[in-house]
Amino acid sequence: MTHDVVIRGTKAVFEDGIRDADIAIDGERIAAVTEAGAAPRGKRDIEADGLVALPGLIDMHSHHREPGFSHKEDLAAIGAQCAYGGVTTSVAMPNVSPPPTTAENLDGMLALYRERAMVDYNVNASGVELDEIPKLAERGILAFKIFMVVDTGRSYPHMPGIGLHEHGELYKRMKAVKATGLPLMIHPHDQSLMDAIEHEYWDRGERDYAAYAKAYAHDDGVIWDTAVALLLRLQEATGVRLHLLHTQTKRVVEMLRAAKAAGRTVSAEVNPWCFWLDNDWKNIERLGSYALSYYVAPHHSAAVYEGFRDGTVDIMATDHAPHLREEKEPGWKDGWKAHTGTPSEQFYLSLLLTDVNDGKLSLERAVDATATRPAKLFGLYPRKGAIRAGADADIVLVDMTERRTIRDEDVLSKCGWTPYAGREVRGAARYTFLRGAAILDDGKIAVRSGFGKQAMRATERAAVRA
Ligand SMILES: [Zn+2]
Repeated sequence: MTHDVVIRGTKAVFEDGIRDADIAIDGERIAAVTEAGAAPRGKRDIEADGLVALPGLIDMHSHHREPGFSHKEDLAAIGAQCAYGGVTTSVAMPNVSPPPTTAENLDGMLALYRERAMVDYNVNASGVELDEIPKLAERGILAFKIFMVVDTGRSYPHMPGIGLHEHGELYKRMKAVKATGLPLMIHPHDQSLMDAIEHEYWDRGERDYAAYAKAYAHDDGVIWDTAVALLLRLQEATGVRLHLLHTQTKRVVEMLRAAKAAGRTVSAEVNPWCFWLDNDWKNIERLGSYALSYYVAPHHSAAVYEGFRDGTVDIMATDHAPHLREEKEPGWKDGWKAHTGTPSEQFYLSLLLTDVNDGKLSLERAVDATATRPAKLFGLYPRKGAIRAGADADIVLVDMTERRTIRDEDVLSKCGWTPYAGREVRGAARYTFLRGAAILDDGKIAVRSGFGKQAMRATERAAVRA
């Protein structure tokens, strides 16, 4: 039989190494992987000599902003950015309106995605409503999310109703999530400590973007470290599968390393801003609140990078968090009034490949951190996360030599800007295949509304089929 698509003569990153291969696709799946030159001609042949094949990226942490905040971003814009940046599965965070704190709200959100999503998706439901946790788990979600932060001075992005920081309340949610078997993602934040630190700044009349960045990094990152120490102890007490978000200090990496060595069910993400944006004070001065606006001192960023390289920090997820310019501008005067977050879905693959080109990171580890390991941690493997026969044909063909300058004019997010504007990158996607369909086709975006499917855990899929 003739295969639908044959990718010919690519250098492919497989789980057991990098080698030249032909990859044949039938329908939505990878039909076969053969030696380069060995596959028969397909209905469509892509001469991929000089391109590198990676499994499609799985972004476990993205703020899609729908429903409720579609003036900042929407599913169509997300789809285009994903196609451009090689992302085939993008998983939404729950700070939308109405938020997926209840099964009813989550059902509404999933219905919206079924109709309009362009790439595969899921939703990290909010884990704050105790009684709803078992019902939410039945909807085929991949994880729960709790923010320990509640905004002071603004009502977004961490609005009331999705934040929780009291120890006893966290403990109860961890036990409830543990009973579902799903991982619990937590944005670590010591609210009580932050209240005290913020007031020191405010009492001195310091409220601008720089004060905000310094307050979050105060005492060498103490608010992050105390929160993670608490979470790790509660994880040990409850046995929940804890996934820490926003890794950004040296001590968190050390605590994580120790917890893993002790065999605990703990994992962690890092976000692009930790390595390429907020670890340089000059960027904070130049961009103000457009630079997120946390500050990650270089000694922290270096320690997190080391932990990322050796896998202690498991995955990279974008924390894609677009806001309009008018929502950022107030930050020059009052950092607590600006909405925090930066867009990054579109360009993080190129930022990562630039580091690979510069010899800072192996290509194998870049693939592991953005595809294979997220798929394994969140139950999508082996259907997703690796190039292998039988898996979904989620494949990115990248040109590792392509040089680009990131520009605001090329931004596909509705926010219309990127903090990485002006940056030279090397390595970009030429083709992105999602379940066999080229959603980026020789550099041209070809996404379709409603093509995206809910990316389900392997066990859930079996239950649905039965
Ligand atoms: Zn986030």
